[in-house]
Amino acid sequence: MSLTDSLLTLYRVEAQVRGLRGRLESAQNYLTAQTQQLEELREQHQELRTRTHQIQAKIGNLEGETAAIDTRIEKLRNELNMASTNKQYTAVLTELNTVKLSRNEVDDHILEEMERIDQIKEQLAKLESDIAEREKIRASAENELQRRHEEVGDRLAELEAERQVAAAEVPAAERRIFNEMADAYSGEAMAAVQEISRRSREYACGECNMCLPFETVAALMGATNSLVRCHACGRILFLQDETRGALAKR
Ligand SMILES: [Zn+2]
Repeated sequence: MSLTDSLLTLYRVEAQVRGLRGRLESAQNYLTAQTQQLEELREQHQELRTRTHQIQAKIGNLEGETAAIDTRIEKLRNELNMASTNKQYTAVLTELNTVKLSRNEVDDHILEEMERIDQIKEQLAKLESDIAEREKIRASAENELQRRHEEVGDRLAELEAERQVAAAEVPAAERRIFNEMADAYSGEAMAAVQEISRRSREYACGECNMCLPFETVAALMGATNSLVRCHACGRILFLQDETRGALAKR
């Protein structure tokens, strides 16, 4: 088999391998994205739960404060009842009013914190339904990946074995160039020479469409055991039988 034929065999197997791999990869990427989104939702949920606990602890402290204030109010009321002079009465009453005011402030504060908890609870409920929804999507993405593995797994293993055989037919230096180009162009390592005008000897690279000097085409006709590459994109050029036939007739 000539070098070009070996390369073309490799090229065709490579395209099939990449096609099947692409099917698996796109399903895998989708699953990864869904898993990540689910993780983010769960993290948000966890954060909100932590905040709820913090606020609840704060409310607990504030309630402790109210209890202390209530004890103080109780004591002042007793003092008020026992006040013997008008001056004493007024002094206790003033203090009682001040303490009652601070009691109201603490109550307001507690209410604010409770409202915050209610708001967070709403957010939590929404997040929980988002999480449930996302879990379903993720599960179906997982099934799809599994399905594709079952569908293409065996064929892919076969093709990968075929590719190994085909690659072994290509000498190391040329194989390195082939792999480099295949990686650069998603598997499109080779390009057929395109005939633009037979009469004026115009040819172009079938992939990047840049004009090829006739010497390049002539080199392809002659040399079967060295690589001829497109000077513009670097792909390995080959002649289709039809083009080769037409050139041979010249
Ligand atoms: Zn090209």
